[in-house]
Amino acid sequence: MSDILVFCEFAGGRVKGSARELLGKARELCDGDDVVAVVIGSDVADAAAGLGALGADKVVTVDDSSLEHYVPTSFASALSQVVDDVSPDVVLGSASVLGKDLFPRAAALCDASVACDVTDLQEGDDGIEGTRPMYAGKCVVQVSVDSDPKFFTVRPNSFIVDGVEAGDGDIEEFDAELDDDPGYEVLEIESSGGDVVDLTEATRIISGGRSLKSEENFGLFDEAAGLMGAAVGASRAAVDAGYAPHSMQVGQTGKTVNPNLYIACGISGAIQHLAGMRTSKVIVAVNKDADAPIFQHATYGIVGDLFEVVPLLTEQLRQVMTD
Ligand SMILES: Cc1cc2nc3c(=O)[nH]c(=O)nc-3n(C[C@H](O)[C@H](O)[C@H](O)COP(=O)(O)OP(=O)(O)OC[C@H]3O[C@@H](n4cnc5c(N)ncnc54)[C@H](O)[C@@H]3O)c2cc1C
Repeated sequence: MSDILVFCEFAGGRVKGSARELLGKARELCDGDDVVAVVIGSDVADAAAGLGALGADKVVTVDDSSLEHYVPTSFASALSQVVDDVSPDVVLGSASVLGKDLFPRAAALCDASVACDVTDLQEGDDGIEGTRPMYAGKCVVQVSVDSDPKFFTVRPNSFIVDGVEAGDGDIEEFDAELDDDPGYEVLEIESSGGDVVDLTEATRIISGGRSLKSEENFGLFDEAAGLMGAAVGASRAAVDAGYAPHSMQVGQTGKTVNPNLYIACGISGAIQHLAGMRTSKVIVAVNKDADAPIFQHATYGIVGDLFEVVPLLTEQLRQVMTD
């Protein structure tokens, strides 16, 4: 039983999808105690108003024009002040790029510890514990956090949340003391991906490897990705060859993804690639080599030429979507 504070990431006028799964999981774990959401940013009131429906009993907002963009020191300071005020047992956030930067900073300010990138949370002997893949997913460990509160970042798409009990969602504006000179100034935010789905949050991904042979050939995935609402990923070999930008790289030195569906096309299944995607719930491999290692990890395997299989898949998707 624990009061749980959930940091809900806010960007582009809305809270990110990770808020839904974190609040849903918090509701499941709180066992009658309070689930409190915190939203930090500028003009967050509208977004905060929807969090009761996702399970928050209370929503604390830190709303200041200086927080329009992520400023590490200001956000860490604001979050730590909210933690001091709410005194939760557990603080949850997404293991997004922002969350991975913010949580260790905020935990340090609260003299607390953080377990990063957990894929599950459960009640243990010493309160809430996490489950975390280690050594590129070769083993899974239980992590208990020996501090009060306990901070956890959770890998996106770790929980399937259905039919969450709504909370009151009472909104409380928190007047955080913010440093006039936080030591950072955000001059410009440049999005590398435009409107495409962020790989680390995507629930479906279609990825290509060296076998794509050119940047243009990556366009083969565009229609299928659009029809499925999927993000497009790449192996490092494809990135190194200049077929795809590094922002699309999945793996040990790229992004860690955790979608419901991962379709690997012409990817051999090297350990460094698996490190970034092996926790995907369903893995489909398309490879013309029946002995490719990826098939040992695939839920479904198609032995075939991706240049034939992907157009057939796209055609099937088109039919399903227009029926
Ligand atoms: C320190 C380190 C870090 C690394 N980090 C990463 C990382 O983050 N991510 C990553 O992906 N890799 C990483 N790598 C590289 C990794 O070891 C592999 O070299 C890489 O993943 C291979 O990419 P690939 O599967 O696209 O290419 P290949 O290994 O060349 O495999 C191509 C596959 O495509 C199949 N194929 C060929 N043509 C077709 C076709 N027409 N239709 C269907 N199948 C076809 C082949 O049978 C083969 O299995 C790292 C390596 C090191 C040493």
